[in-house]
Amino acid sequence: MIELQAASYSYGHTALLSDMSFSIEPGSFHFLTGPSGAGKSTLLKLLYAELLPSEGTVSLFGQSVDQMSRDQIAFLRRRIGLVHQNCDFLDHLSMTENICLPLTVAGQSARDDLDQLLAWVGLTHRADALPPQLSGGERQRAALARALIQAPEVVLADEPTGNIDWEMSQRLLTLLIELNKMGTTVLIATHDLNLIRLAKSEIAVRVLRIKDRQVQFAGSDL
Ligand code: ADP
Ligand code: ADP
Repeated sequence: MIELQAASYSYGHTALLSDMSFSIEPGSFHFLTGPSGAGKSTLLKLLYAELLPSEGTVSLFGQSVDQMSRDQIAFLRRRIGLVHQNCDFLDHLSMTENICLPLTVAGQSARDDLDQLLAWVGLTHRADALPPQLSGGERQRAALARALIQAPEVVLADEPTGNIDWEMSQRLLTLLIELNKMGTTVLIATHDLNLIRLAKSEIAVRVLRIKDRQVQFAGSDL
């Protein structure tokens, strides 16, 4: 689904990530961890082709990103849902309009099951609210709903619980686990080891760790 072969990334002359080879299989649940500044966000950007590898290859759905046109990359990205830590909503649009924005931008019609999606993330009562009226936890769940609006096969989340308390973090994790059980591939970048431990107690997860510019599979020593 997503595969890296000897992929490296440098900002200018500074090598940040080197010689990474691993793949994200359909239906899997991955965590990506490592200290702040290790390169988690950068690796996520490589995984959805916002950045291209300095060396080696990154393949999305079987195609190497550096052999694709911008249009092809934009098209493939619809199959990937992104949840950012800082959910950037347009403050003058309602939550429903914000969540549906990726469809609007792509010229697609609204989903018939939008109400179900809102109910699933627990935002039915906030459908008409404006973003500034929402709590941190509600914003994160809205960001998840927006990431799911085009029914992606993979969801990549960058520190999704970075700004919310533990109770809200657990709730968000529960949603991501449910989503994975319904077949969506999930990858969460986080430095929150408690979140990883909690997930491990419920489902089989693989933990990738960035250490010394390399990506390793972490064992059971979390
Ligand atoms: P993490 O998500 O693990 O905190 P990042 O991928 O955000 O790590 O950043 C890794 C390192 O790369 C940091 O030292 C950061 O300062 C640097 N970095 C990130 N973006 C850029 C950029 N656009 N130009 C140069 N250096 C960058
Ligand atoms: P439950 O019955 O436990 O509430 P469902 O399986 O009915 O869960 O899912 C509720 C709604 O969540 C779905 O109808 C759909 O709108 C949304 N949803 C769940 N998974 C996905 C997904 N992978 N992509 C897009 N939307 C999803």
